[in-house]
Amino acid sequence: MKELNIETKCIQAGYVPGNGEPRQIPIIQSTTFKYDTSEDMGKLFDLEASGYFYTRLQNPTNDYVAAKIAALEGGTAAMLTSSGQAANFYTIFNLASCGDHVVAVSTIYGGTFNLFSVTMKRMGIEFTFVSPYCTDEELEAAFRPNTKAVFGETIANPALIVLDIERFANAAHAHGVPLIIDNTFPTPFLCNPFKFGADIVTHSTTKYMDGHGAGVGGCIVDSGKFDWTKYPDKFPGLCTPDESYHGVTYTERFGLEGAFITKATAQLMRDFGSIQSPQNAFLLNLGLESLHVRMERHCENALKIAKFLSAHENITWVKYSGLPGDRDYKLAKKYLPKGSCGVVSFGVKGGRKAAEAFMKKLKLASIETHVADARTCCLHPASATHRQMNDEELIAAGVSADLVRLSVGLENADDLIADLAQALAD
Ligand SMILES: *Cc1c(COP(=O)(O)O)cnc(C)c1O
Repeated sequence: MKELNIETKCIQAGYVPGNGEPRQIPIIQSTTFKYDTSEDMGKLFDLEASGYFYTRLQNPTNDYVAAKIAALEGGTAAMLTSSGQAANFYTIFNLASCGDHVVAVSTIYGGTFNLFSVTMKRMGIEFTFVSPYCTDEELEAAFRPNTKAVFGETIANPALIVLDIERFANAAHAHGVPLIIDNTFPTPFLCNPFKFGADIVTHSTTKYMDGHGAGVGGCIVDSGKFDWTKYPDKFPGLCTPDESYHGVTYTERFGLEGAFITKATAQLMRDFGSIQSPQNAFLLNLGLESLHVRMERHCENALKIAKFLSAHENITWVKYSGLPGDRDYKLAKKYLPKGSCGVVSFGVKGGRKAAEAFMKKLKLASIETHVADARTCCLHPASATHRQMNDEELIAAGVSADLVRLSVGLENADDLIADLAQALAD
């Protein structure tokens, strides 16, 4: 059978029931798994046989859902994590250790920026932040001999800047390191970063993949394409024996298609334990079953609203890459041909105070530290998610003090526009 379309994969990939087995994914709500002999279990611990022994490392429900996301992204292996934060932390920490360096785009999500610039810095990993619009020379200058990866977001949260993935992938590969892309905002329905040279994709599944504000979660997907064995000195964790796992060399035992995710499971999930609960994985899968239908409507509603806002006299600027004339419109046509997701940013005339007053008047859009929900919600990042940043960092993050982030939901677009119109009326 030819490669299935993404709509079919959203419904059918991952879990394939056998004869007489449940049609819906079973929730394996069990911490542990039973074996007849100690030898059987020993083989699992030595990674000589595949199977389950303890849900802190792996659980069948999670693996069905991870397999679906791997299929949606076109990757070879994937793992679920307890949150998007855990997914990004594991991905970097699986490659970089104390004394290493990573190049990251400055407009990444505030939580990730903090994780990198404060917490991971305390672990001895240094980050150089570059503008998504940097010149080739500036990008080149960010690399060091100890650089282990490049990190960016397809659509930056909340600046909504579209990354030129191919350009960043080429630069990363010229330096023998992988490009990691946080693909949370587009989801694999709107963009497959692997098609443009990215090597590893991460997700906060809390957002559109869940889509209903029901469960916090994350996911890491490996393309299986980056050849770690070409750079054994750079990636000793993948290319030399792991003494904490009986001398396993991940690239030798699991090949390029499995090494990265197996190492992240065997070492990081074992030691940090940020597993997603099987119950949440089940809810995530329900979200994935309608991802393709929901994303189309999110994009359609958001474009209508972006057009309405850009014509309104009390709106000073609108950022939505699907809007003709937007700085990233050309990049969006290339990377996001099916739509630019449901999030629109804009400035309200009168700045910070006016933005707050406007948000208070909204009746359908509620104020939430959330995006990508079926229900429309909005946020003033400068006084919420980004409040720990100084003015310089705010500008580098692409967040001005007047920026309102509107996450357009699945309601009727005319109702949403009427709500915005009454809140903007003088
Ligand atoms: C929300 C978000 C995260 C963090 O995910 P959590 O699930 O909240 O931990 C990471 N990256 C992006 C782009 C996000 O929007």
